[in-house]
Amino acid sequence: MFRYHAEYDGSKCDHPSYYSCPWIQHGLVFFRYKLATCCYCGHVGGGHTLVKDDYRGEPINWEHIFKQKKTFNRLYKKGLIHDNCVNCPFLELLYNETWDREENYISNVYISHWTECNSKCIYCYATQHPEEFSYKTKNYSVLPIIKEMLEKNILRRGGNVHFGGGEPTILPEFEDLIRLLLNYKFYDLRVHTSGIKYSPILERGIREGRLRVIVSVDAGCPETFKKIKQVDAYNIVRENVRKYAAAQIHKRIALTPHLYMDGEICAGTKFIIIPGINDTEEEVENWIRADVESGVHTTIIDLEENWFKAHEDNLPQSIFDFIYKIKLLSDKYHTHFELYERLENMLKNNPDKAPWYVPYHK
Ligand code: SF4
Ligand code: SF4
Repeated sequence: MFRYHAEYDGSKCDHPSYYSCPWIQHGLVFFRYKLATCCYCGHVGGGHTLVKDDYRGEPINWEHIFKQKKTFNRLYKKGLIHDNCVNCPFLELLYNETWDREENYISNVYISHWTECNSKCIYCYATQHPEEFSYKTKNYSVLPIIKEMLEKNILRRGGNVHFGGGEPTILPEFEDLIRLLLNYKFYDLRVHTSGIKYSPILERGIREGRLRVIVSVDAGCPETFKKIKQVDAYNIVRENVRKYAAAQIHKRIALTPHLYMDGEICAGTKFIIIPGINDTEEEVENWIRADVESGVHTTIIDLEENWFKAHEDNLPQSIFDFIYKIKLLSDKYHTHFELYERLENMLKNNPDKAPWYVPYHK
């Protein structure tokens, strides 16, 4: 529902302006049974604004999609903001004419329309709600839609194309999708993977400096890995991380005249902090050390969603202190420290508990 928020009403600015974001303008998300505007959900409004419910791969009425986006613009101009967008860090205030100049096209895509995986993470929504995913319906295919979007120039470079999932590397159309996007010279491709299955097409994307692979590790040793993932694959995953890291180019790659990709951060792993299970300094240091030894130069962290939701009204100082310790470890090993959206918002909203934190999105 759209409601009036005085703080988002830019119509009274000296130069009339309004709030929007790259996803309202140019975003499309493929979920299992629906299309959405964006995949962000770590803020108060919760994101995932619906574009079409009960979607299973049917041809898309593009005219309708772009009309919907214009409706957002018309309402946001009056300060009428969708509940799901409230407090989202991606909302940006720009002059009316700046937003209105934008053409109709899609450049931000998130592909997350399947749930099958070769891991069984204890925090995964599919593991926690098997009843919801136990009945088998055939996955729809995104490949013909992406092909159509490219042929009609609806999908354009300049944004980002990310994969969620499920495990992308076991998706039958995955290699074709990535190959197609690489052949069309897309950049800022990002793939989240369990790392259990090695993918040569991901290696190609890394080598070309146009694709980032984020392997979910969450652990610094095989025992903790098995406890969290419920599969015995730590050594396989670490070996695959090493192979992805070896494909990195050690230079900045010019993607456009104004945009560069740092080839050294194309292969990364992620550590989701699960309090009570992997939140020790030793575990984190072992994880970072193993990364650095295999050629990974990033330290990417997130916080387990269910724990966060249960504590978000009264977050203990200890979690902020632990994140600071990880930041210090990242400094010690000279890695690029990255926070996922939920953590970034948490630190930004609690400056008294994390005075060391400098927000990336103000
Ligand atoms: S939730 Fe945030 S990213 Fe998503 S459409 Fe709204 S403002 Fe944009
Ligand atoms: S790797 Fe991702 S999709 Fe697979 S079980 Fe873990 S959280 Fe779920």
